[in-house]
Amino acid sequence: MEYQIQKAKCLICGSEFTQRGISKHIQSCLNKRFKKVIDKDVTYYLLYIHPDFTKDYFLYLLVTQNTTLEDLDWFLRAIWLECCYHMSAFFYGKYSELPKEHTISDVEKISKEIFYHYDFGSTTALHIKIIGKYEGPEGLEGNIAILSRNRQPIIPCDECGEREAVQICTACVWDGGGWLCEECVKKHPCEEEMLLPVCNSPRTGVCAYTGEEKEIRTDKALNNFLKLLEKKQD
Ligand SMILES: [Zn+2]
Ligand SMILES: [Zn+2]
Ligand SMILES: [Zn+2]
Ligand SMILES: [Zn+2]
Repeated sequence: MEYQIQKAKCLICGSEFTQRGISKHIQSCLNKRFKKVIDKDVTYYLLYIHPDFTKDYFLYLLVTQNTTLEDLDWFLRAIWLECCYHMSAFFYGKYSELPKEHTISDVEKISKEIFYHYDFGSTTALHIKIIGKYEGPEGLEGNIAILSRNRQPIIPCDECGEREAVQICTACVWDGGGWLCEECVKKHPCEEEMLLPVCNSPRTGVCAYTGEEKEIRTDKALNNFLKLLEKKQD
């Protein structure tokens, strides 16, 4: 089997797209929803986030203007990163640090593209881009909604090449051989403590990352907000 990227869903309309197509789609899907809205009390930002080493993991988030980098830090830890409460920081340009009290609208005035580092040892580095801006009514519960997230890539087992990897041996991963399927993991010679589960996260196989501690669900908040946008059309 080969490494496979799966299509991702736009959670606004439910359509599925390839990684290449989804960015444009989400922008136009949001444009449609916001276009005729009469209430313009709040500015919403569309964020596109992916790790520096690949675009196979991504998030498209709708956030309110008052969302701070601290809120975003919390969200990214919860959905993608948290293993042992490492330090983190946001930057722009050539590593000028941004205070976490900054809101997204503060950030937009400084730079539309920022960077985020989680853990200064085994760092997971993310790119965060502001790719859209919309005016609308107040009413996005929780202030951050997921508009799309990549489905977990299918990663083949390094031993047999036939089945999907479900565990990563952190001792072998640096020699290009640590991704293991259910069968091959039983025969693997390394200590069991070396194994980590394969997760839908750019931090999979890094440090002690074992997946989301609790699932982040924003569908209900997004659906309610979309209904509100429909009501506020002229
Ligand atoms: Zn859509
Ligand atoms: Zn850790
Ligand atoms: Zn295998
Ligand atoms: Zn091993």
